[in-house]
Amino acid sequence: MTEGVATISARGASRWRAGHPWIYRSDVQEAVLASGIVRVQDGRGRFVGRALCSPASEIRLRMLTDQDTEIDAAWWRQMIGRAAGRRRSVMRDATAYRVVHAEGDGLPSLVVDRYGDYVVVQLLSAGLEIVRDQVIAAIVDVLDPSAVLLRNDASVRRHERLPLEIVDAVGSVPDRVAVDEGGVVYHATPRTGQKTGAFLDQRGNRILAGSMACGRALDLFTYHGLFALHLAQRADSVIAVDSSGPALDIARENARANRLPNIEWVEANVFDLLRDLERAQERFDVVVLDPPAFAKQRSGLPRATRAYKEINLRAARLLAPSGVLLTCSCSFHLNRTRFLEMLAGAAVDSRRDLVLEGVLGQSLDHPELLSVPETSYLKGALLRAR
Ligand code: SAH
Repeated sequence: MTEGVATISARGASRWRAGHPWIYRSDVQEAVLASGIVRVQDGRGRFVGRALCSPASEIRLRMLTDQDTEIDAAWWRQMIGRAAGRRRSVMRDATAYRVVHAEGDGLPSLVVDRYGDYVVVQLLSAGLEIVRDQVIAAIVDVLDPSAVLLRNDASVRRHERLPLEIVDAVGSVPDRVAVDEGGVVYHATPRTGQKTGAFLDQRGNRILAGSMACGRALDLFTYHGLFALHLAQRADSVIAVDSSGPALDIARENARANRLPNIEWVEANVFDLLRDLERAQERFDVVVLDPPAFAKQRSGLPRATRAYKEINLRAARLLAPSGVLLTCSCSFHLNRTRFLEMLAGAAVDSRRDLVLEGVLGQSLDHPELLSVPETSYLKGALLRAR
């Protein structure tokens, strides 16, 4: 097959030189598309690199390399192998972790998560979809899994005009996979759970929360109870809250698997419950706040910021003397600076004296590229009451 060629504008080329691999539709001047991978050149015909091409997406090209090398099976094997090699330290903590974090690992639109013997993959661009067999073969070669599941139901695939589907690519991944995370056991749900079956991006923060736990702990937005499990290792008692009954059913099973009877599971709306706890003057030594993304779009940011501020200031009021609040936001649009500004406002309004003991982020296996803001979405803070 002859290679497709895309000619890009000077603006597109300089964006890539500055470290951002996305070339938008408006920066592609001419394209002859023959496959999912195209040769990219500038207006004078000079070689710029090779990219994944998405004919229907606003993000038309995703640069893979600036080298004049063929993007073949060996190239995918080498890139995935290097990403896996960078996870060596993470593997010591847990049996489930992210092996490839898309742009953060130089592999735009590819997510590969390992759950014990199994692998769950997301192919998030039309270009990647075309080379799917090659990519899956490379994953199998490098990671040698018992089965590979494609969680191609992420809504971003709509921008690529790709179907949303969950497909067994190799063998069959079970409904539940037992994971060891820093001494805690939990069941990931790769076929039905959020993301690829668990929130792997919070692993580091969960282990941190566990290490700080004592006395009475509160885990808000607990989902399958993972923060609560870590907290319950050291705390006397934990109250864990979620509005989803089915999520709490799995959380209860997780607690049983760890023989942890000191967790009380509460099905409630966190906004209402926080008011009730405040009214009752309850106090906690550790509070974890891990809400879903309140700002899905930039336009929703003001409203989302108010909601974040409300739960943070109410949670702060529940802190016992020297108590800690581990608080997070996974809204990409609320960047780190805005997040810390929101917390400063919440601290003032809570009328509590709070110190910032640490700024937190996504787990180390979800690396951020400083030149690609889109690779950074989860931020957190550790606040202590004086
Ligand atoms: N802390 C979890 C992930 C939380 S995901 C972990 O580390 O794995 C967010 C959770 O918030 C989901 O389970 C969802 O059901 C819950 N949720 C969303 N809105 C809520 C609300 N208003 N009150 C309580 N729970 C809510």
